[in-house]
Amino acid sequence: MPTLPLALIDLDHTLLNTTHIKIDYRTLASAVEAFSHFTGNEVDRYLYPDTIAFITYIKKYFIPAIFTEGPADFQKAKISHSALAGLIDNNCRFVFDGFTKADQLSQLVALHHPKLLVDDNPKNLETAHYLNLITVRVKRGDHRADPDIASPDLTVASLQEIIEKDLFATFIIKV
Ligand SMILES: [Mg+2]
Repeated sequence: MPTLPLALIDLDHTLLNTTHIKIDYRTLASAVEAFSHFTGNEVDRYLYPDTIAFITYIKKYFIPAIFTEGPADFQKAKISHSALAGLIDNNCRFVFDGFTKADQLSQLVALHHPKLLVDDNPKNLETAHYLNLITVRVKRGDHRADPDIASPDLTVASLQEIIEKDLFATFIIKV
């Protein structure tokens, strides 16, 4: 049975309404502290309304993997205390401590051969573009008004737009 290709999906501002977290917790330190005490699915309220439907949708074409950076325990808590935990395999959670995503991408590509990146940050999409990944820009969150650095293969205002128009049907890849 053929396997599906791997798709990297950014977390903050792509799947998670990080602006909402910043409103609830005025500093990063206070958010990190609060999230360290979570025991259930407290992070579900910060997922964008289209996040779960998108993960379900993308599984038709790709194996979804989270690709994120930040304080590692904080990033892991965002996943494990939301419905994402039940939808993304443990070995498909690429969490890079600090803010080094763009620097880590070439090694990640060499090791795991992802075919596509969904991200809100033009810098990460530029790096992915030059590593020959399909790039999908979601224009929401902190970077929504930033200019493109490298032209994305697809630009959307929401993940819902991808689902409604079945936009990934054109990205069917045999591996
Ligand atoms: Mg992001």
